[in-house]
Amino acid sequence: MQREGPCTVVWFRRDLRLSDHSALRAAVRRGVVVPVFIWSEEEEGSWPLGAASRWWLHQSLLQLDQALRQRGSRLVLRAGPIVDALLDVIKQTRASAVYWSRRYEPDAQRVEQQVEQALRARGVEGLGFAGTLLYDPVGIRTRTGEPYQVFSAFWRRCQQEAAPGHPEPVPETIRGPAQWPASAALTSFALEPRIDWAAGLRQSWQPGELGAQQRLRHFVAKHLAEYAVERDRPDREGTSRLSPHLHFGEISPRQVWTAVRERSDGSDLRRASERYQIELGWREFAYYLLVHFPDTPACSLRPEFERFPWQDAPKLLHAWQRGRTGYPIVDAGMRQLWHTGWMHNRVRMIVASFLTKNLLITWRAGAKWFWDTLVDADLANNTLGWQWTSGCGADAAPYFRIFNPVRQGERFDPNGDYVRRWVPELAGLPARWIHQPWAAPAATIKEAGVRLGETYSEPIVDLAGTRARALEAFRKLRSPAR
Ligand SMILES: Cc1cc2nc3c(=O)[nH]c(=O)nc-3n(C[C@H](O)[C@H](O)[C@H](O)COP(=O)(O)OP(=O)(O)OC[C@H]3O[C@@H](n4cnc5c(N)ncnc54)[C@H](O)[C@@H]3O)c2cc1C
Repeated sequence: MQREGPCTVVWFRRDLRLSDHSALRAAVRRGVVVPVFIWSEEEEGSWPLGAASRWWLHQSLLQLDQALRQRGSRLVLRAGPIVDALLDVIKQTRASAVYWSRRYEPDAQRVEQQVEQALRARGVEGLGFAGTLLYDPVGIRTRTGEPYQVFSAFWRRCQQEAAPGHPEPVPETIRGPAQWPASAALTSFALEPRIDWAAGLRQSWQPGELGAQQRLRHFVAKHLAEYAVERDRPDREGTSRLSPHLHFGEISPRQVWTAVRERSDGSDLRRASERYQIELGWREFAYYLLVHFPDTPACSLRPEFERFPWQDAPKLLHAWQRGRTGYPIVDAGMRQLWHTGWMHNRVRMIVASFLTKNLLITWRAGAKWFWDTLVDADLANNTLGWQWTSGCGADAAPYFRIFNPVRQGERFDPNGDYVRRWVPELAGLPARWIHQPWAAPAATIKEAGVRLGETYSEPIVDLAGTRARALEAFRKLRSPAR
């Protein structure tokens, strides 16, 4: 009879892949492997998964199970509490170790410590592996020992660390136990919506490791070369759209980093590749800030912003959420988000600036809406994005930088194709007027079949007036209290 060897539980979290997975490889080297996913929101703290993320997670777990089965293994599903579920699997399999990939969200770290303690108390080895980030955020500090708050300095410092290593392949075989422990049914987690609103998500995405790898290959082959110039154009397919795959760990940042660097032959490609690496750097910075300033998902990093006179304006908030502000590029972005669970980065900045500066609604309300609707909703990146745009975070856009949605639209969607796609009621307008239909001559509006206030909203606020109001509020915040 073949000896089974020691058994290791691999606790899957936000690392739903088999390739470049250090914890899985270490477990395979040790002997028998029991892959486990535990459905519990303990790790998410005050940020339980939004509806779009839940949909994604369901698909991703299906894919992971399939990939494991192709290698003679399977994914054991359990419901939390996490420590209890892990201890029960250990009992059923007589596992002597639990391996996992580290997470950096404050509540996930807290749970990790509880797991470590519980394992230690029972003499079971517990070990967390790197894999979520390129650089370990804990040790990186300024010369005076403070955490960095400026991206360029942080990123320069990262470059002094050892370069990210080469990704590891999928283990060829994953040996399972003679008897598998009990597993819950995926449907019992009720992750998919009860009323099926997810058709737009299905059309737009292929969750799982295979989908992630295909998207990376497609991006590197077709779009990387133009990334530096096209990345700001929402009307083009200029960015990688890897964010949900990176968030769920279906692909590792090291795999993306390596694929992009390997293509950097020739000066144009090198420039594009460097530009792309900087964006991965912003992801590193976001996690770094979350580790060193764990309160920021709820509180502004710059404390004076806690005194900011945000408005309570539910009707305006609702118009923004539904893409009915009367500003075409804002509405296009909000509708793209609702339909596909994703929005282009340039447009995220435009809609976030509009909400926090023109509507004077707190960034927290925007972050919450994004949290529920984005398939890439990510505590670190979302917090950084909102605090950066509203001016209350690290290395934030200066307070006087208020995006003008008309100018932004004309500059980054010059032919109006993005607006035409997501705001079809304006499709008949010529490019000259599509970003400001209220200013178009009456005959042009009529010919395009647009009736402002009927087929398309009138602007819900006046840009110049709200801009002046925001600047005044920011100015007061900066002057010392009397
Ligand atoms: C208000 C606001 C909210 C945001 N919320 C999120 C969020 O919840 N989740 C999320 O993943 N990103 C968020 N972002 C960052 C950014 O918009 C997305 O990461 C990006 O649009 C994803 O598209 P992509 O994969 O095609 O990006 P690419 O341009 O192809 O970039 C590659 C990868 O780099 C990372 N990245 C790129 N830009 C940023 C950035 N500014 N900050 C941090 N990481 C970045 C992402 O992981 C991305 O997948 C937010 C930005 C703003 C302004």
